[in-house]
Amino acid sequence: MPETYPTVVLKAGREKTILKGHPWLYSGAIEKVYGDPAPGEVVCVTSATGQKVALCFYHPRCDIALRLISRHGDEKIDKSFWQRRIKSALELRKKIVPQNTTAYRLLNAEGDGIPGLVADRYGDLLVISIETAGAEFYRNEIIDALIKEVSPHGIYERSKGPARALEGLEERVGVVWGREPPTTMEIMEHGLRFLVQVKEGQKTGFFLDQRENRRLFQDLSAGARVLNCFSYTGGFTVYAMRGGAQEVVSVDVSESAVIMIDENLKINGLDNKSHRGVRADVFDYLRCENSRYDLICLDPPPFAKARKDVRSAFRGYRDINRLALKMLKQNGLLMTFSCSGALDEETFYQAICQAAAEAVGTVRLLTRLGAAKDHPTLINHPEGRYLKGFVLSLMEKHER
Ligand code: SAH
Repeated sequence: MPETYPTVVLKAGREKTILKGHPWLYSGAIEKVYGDPAPGEVVCVTSATGQKVALCFYHPRCDIALRLISRHGDEKIDKSFWQRRIKSALELRKKIVPQNTTAYRLLNAEGDGIPGLVADRYGDLLVISIETAGAEFYRNEIIDALIKEVSPHGIYERSKGPARALEGLEERVGVVWGREPPTTMEIMEHGLRFLVQVKEGQKTGFFLDQRENRRLFQDLSAGARVLNCFSYTGGFTVYAMRGGAQEVVSVDVSESAVIMIDENLKINGLDNKSHRGVRADVFDYLRCENSRYDLICLDPPPFAKARKDVRSAFRGYRDINRLALKMLKQNGLLMTFSCSGALDEETFYQAICQAAAEAVGTVRLLTRLGAAKDHPTLINHPEGRYLKGFVLSLMEKHER
């Protein structure tokens, strides 16, 4: 017997979005809703002619009204369904998480088939964040499935931020199951140790999405004078030191983050005499400094949190990249990022092009970067690709 769910009928042709692989449908695509489903409840979505297209999380009051759960309209959504999703996520991580790495993203929302659910693994601890009414509706089943499949020592929740408010959900932070996380714990990434504060730190404690880019940064660091802007607890700094940087300057506005950089260097046996941590606003720092660097990292917080912010974010990215490019030595390298989901890669690239035109030399594009492989996104879901990056090289300076 197929499971029965409330039915949502789409307007003619609107099922194409799902058929092409995009996981969201906006409220304007809906013709009729049967059965009064609650926010977050699973519904069976059909085409205008009544063909079952998918099962989705439904929200009666959000722009994104439907979020894809399964392309099988008859599937039963129960604990074993979530277990299958988690098993499959674990299977992928077994293939792609590098050796000597104890922290990774286990569930990346839509990219792992559970819209709005992020689960990061820090050794035996899981830190979860729930951002959709759907994942919230099935919360108990999902948490049971996580306990069964992952056998963690504890699950800690950090569900907050504007996305949650949009779905009509209140903030929820605290222990969900098992052991309370320590204030500070140690993880390993590519054999490097890092102190992480999963309760107080940013995101779920560490920027796991930058792991592969930090490794590349290490490879570019030999003998270099390095500037790490928006350094947080020194992810890029520690890699640069391991890569043989001559000197690293790390800049962040958070005093506690800057203090932790020295500790992270120390537990890796790296020399902290060639490191200088600066607590400052990066914009001010770049405007006032006259030094020149071989390698710079720019990894700012998201300048655009929503579509309305895109214009001012564009200016922010342009200005900060212009300032950074001016601080490069001839043939110096800039690794620059945007983690604004609302600003697509092309727009970010245009901001970089303007920065290059306003800076003082000929700039080359060496490579494009994104989030690490444990942050998969559906092939036709550009909104999921929030982290974009470029490696640029300053070929020659122009006389002005
Ligand atoms: N690259 C880091 C993550 C950076 S997160 C890593 O690999 O771990 C962004 C950081 O920017 C945060 O630590 C935040 O404190 C800092 N920040 C935000 N606005 C800032 C500003 N105007 N100047 C300096 N730092 C800022």
